[in-house]
Amino acid sequence: MPHAYPFLTPEQKKELSDIAHRIVAPGKGILAADESTGSVAKRFQSINAENTEENRRLYRQLLFTADDRAQPCIGGVILFHETMYQKTDNGKVFPQHLKERGMVVGIKVDKGVVPLAGTNGETTTQGLDGLYERCAQYKKDGADFAKWRCVLKITPTTPSRLAIIENANVLARYASICQMHGIVPIVEPEILPDGDHDLKRCQYVTEKVLAAVYKALSDHHVYLEGTLLKPNMVTAGHSCSHKYTNQEIAMATVTALRRTVPPAVPGITFLSGGQSEEEASVNLNAMNQCPLHRPWALTFSYGRALQASALKAWGGKKENGKACQEEFIKRALANSQASVGKYVSSGSSAAGGDSLFVANHAY
Ligand code: 13P
Repeated sequence: MPHAYPFLTPEQKKELSDIAHRIVAPGKGILAADESTGSVAKRFQSINAENTEENRRLYRQLLFTADDRAQPCIGGVILFHETMYQKTDNGKVFPQHLKERGMVVGIKVDKGVVPLAGTNGETTTQGLDGLYERCAQYKKDGADFAKWRCVLKITPTTPSRLAIIENANVLARYASICQMHGIVPIVEPEILPDGDHDLKRCQYVTEKVLAAVYKALSDHHVYLEGTLLKPNMVTAGHSCSHKYTNQEIAMATVTALRRTVPPAVPGITFLSGGQSEEEASVNLNAMNQCPLHRPWALTFSYGRALQASALKAWGGKKENGKACQEEFIKRALANSQASVGKYVSSGSSAAGGDSLFVANHAY
């Protein structure tokens, strides 16, 4: 058995762990604003806005300049490459603007999913080529954390062992590359909600996937204290006929996490995965009220569930900027409260109860 040759100095470890802790400090979570240009196209289509670079800048500027009520709720913001280099109306690059507001800057570094040959429609995620160099550049340009999304599917024949092992390994390679550059990797093995499977099956698959991910992270000598996990919540499939309570979802999710995620991991930041804004807040709240010991922060890293009402209120129109920001702040406050188990549902957002499910979701 060889021993691990040290690759991070105590100072590097401290930097990584400090960044991770800042992102998930009490009451804080992540705004996932890293939709690729193609994903923005779909979002903008729903409000009849044109998908131009300037419109993407204007919309994201609204989110990033929402007033000070958002500040204690948002620990980090994940950006897409283009957004890293866009500026506010005052000529400040977004990363600088976000840092001055006390938010940690993140960058999506994966290059999307590609088919895994010989499987039943399963995928792996590409983007390792040149990642070492890209991370060095992103760190210089202000990014302190990164995101890489892998996707797994539940069907009677999937996820296959190959998909589980391959995706765990690629996540671990990505994580170790990030850490060499002082970037905290968010490890995201998303199990899609598509299908009619029940809660138990999702819990079983989530446990197997997460166990493989943490084995791979250990094999690759990843420093867990300087990582964050971004998992799906354990829910029944979108077309399952049985409806489970928020408490059942919370119990299944926390049980799966306790069985697989080491306490050294500072935080677990859930994706919203097509849940409505309200569901995503209520489920997160239920987890933080669940009567099981939780050694990590449980918080949010929502894309759709933080933005659906804001996007709708904006509608691509300049005069709706304030309304857009108010809706965003509403969800940020709701999820901040849910991350400490203190959310009381009010149900008054523009898109609050609407399902945000997209079949076979790409990001
Ligand atoms: P949703 O919250 O919309 O699922 O997206 C979060 C995300 O970053 C997925 O990679």
